[in-house]
Amino acid sequence: MNIRIGQGFDVHKFGGEGPVTLGNIVIPCDQGLLAHSDGDVLLHAIADALLGAIGAGDIGVWFPDNDPAYAGADSGVLLQQVWREVTQRGFGLINLDATIICQKPKINPHRQAIQQRIAELLDVAATQINIKATTTEELGFTGRKEGIAAMAVVLLGAAS
Ligand SMILES: [Zn+2]
Repeated sequence: MNIRIGQGFDVHKFGGEGPVTLGNIVIPCDQGLLAHSDGDVLLHAIADALLGAIGAGDIGVWFPDNDPAYAGADSGVLLQQVWREVTQRGFGLINLDATIICQKPKINPHRQAIQQRIAELLDVAATQINIKATTTEELGFTGRKEGIAAMAVVLLGAAS
């Protein structure tokens, strides 16, 4: 079996009105995330991990942030576009593990919905997706509630 690993990391800054969208799930928050797209930092990290695993660059190359086509884009649609490329190259998901790093909003109440939604977007079992969340104990930019960071690791497998 051909096994490929990929990792992704993304950050978006708080600004303007809430809510935020994380893992394609709308979560109440007193501030939103500033971005060209919907600012879904988790899906961006996952898309980058998938692109990394297949050696296809990063989402900045695929979806340039100066391209008006992606203004306010639903990152779920962007992730599915990346996923199509992955499957067209003959790969399937073995597992995906991701961490959301933020002081706000609270992720735990939404963790299962996020896991389910990502499984739906990729058409895989929810058991292949793990979503974790952590604060940074009020340290650093996430601790100061300046933004949200996300990290993701994926493992892909192909028959040949
Ligand atoms: Zn992003």
